[in-house]
Amino acid sequence: MAEERTFSIIKPDATRRNLTGQINAMLEDAGLRIVAQKRIRMTTGQAEEFYGVHRERPFFNDLVAFMTSGPVVVQVLEGEDAVAANRKVMGATNPAEADEGTIRKRFAESIEANSVHGSDSRENAAIEIAYFFSGTEIVG
Ligand code: GDP
Repeated sequence: MAEERTFSIIKPDATRRNLTGQINAMLEDAGLRIVAQKRIRMTTGQAEEFYGVHRERPFFNDLVAFMTSGPVVVQVLEGEDAVAANRKVMGATNPAEADEGTIRKRFAESIEANSVHGSDSRENAAIEIAYFFSGTEIVG
């Protein structure tokens, strides 16, 4: 187990319902520390680049429209095995398949409007953090 960082987004469905604090509490209860955080409105270009790996998927345009439909909160989380710990507390992509006690089970509206994003690997975490934050904005 190693101390590491991961990247997180509280998505527009959750900011719309004023759930930032409740989601942050679940992240903190899972042992993650929020070492950087800002509320932004993603541009279409940012969302297209961020989700570029899904460009060929049928839901890509809907996903970009959703992610730009309202404010998001981008975050850097730090803790023991932070990537895996965050994926665990997030729950499965499809809330119908998410375990009890996870953020998506509790709050997600659909497979698309599923309240949170979390990096799926250490490598992607580093790329995603650097896309949204400068080093001086992260205070561990
Ligand atoms: P994640 O790592 O659990 O977020 O899942 P993926 O990387 O597979 O998908 C990225 C995001 O695309 C998800 O969090 C959803 O917001 C959205 N998404 C994934 N699968 C679907 C789908 O089948 N339909 C729609 N509309 N959106 C999806």
